[in-house]
Amino acid sequence: MITAARERVYVALGSNIGDRAAQLAHARRRLSELPGTRVVAVSKVEETAPIGPVPQDPYLNQMVLIETTLGPDELLRQCRTIEAERGRERRERWGPRTLDLDIVRYGERTVQEANLTIPHPELPNRDFWRREIAELEAMHHA
Ligand code: ATP
Ligand code: CA
Ligand code: CA
Repeated sequence: MITAARERVYVALGSNIGDRAAQLAHARRRLSELPGTRVVAVSKVEETAPIGPVPQDPYLNQMVLIETTLGPDELLRQCRTIEAERGRERRERWGPRTLDLDIVRYGERTVQEANLTIPHPELPNRDFWRREIAELEAMHHA
């Protein structure tokens, strides 16, 4: 049997509309159900102030470590589907949203496409993401 390479991927979840904890739970469950994918570990849920110029409510954030055989483009497509299931509307960037899934790191890969940049370009600017990744790395290499 030929098996595709399994990669370790960090996916950031965010929500600031509706039942935020339930939106994150939906994302975790759906990620775990994707083909060739399992959830390895999840960070603590953190509440953070919104980023950018749009006035809006605070976010709940969580980092999820998955292992997957899905490629980066297919994973992005699946993430958009999961967002849409929670009624995500795309208006302005950094606006309020029911559910956001960002691919923060994908193994050691770098991707530079029109619709996909990996590692996520905002990683250096988001302390909470770096904190959550450190938490998962500590858990996983312990
Ligand atoms: P940010 O990406 O700064 O957190 P955002 O999540 O509010 O902002 P969105 O409106 O959700 O931005 O997405 C804008 C576009 O970003 C998406 O259509 C997607 O194609 C693109 N994108 C580029 N790189 C990534 C990535 N690593 N993960 C998810 N989306 C990405
Ligand atoms: Ca985002
Ligand atoms: Ca996003």
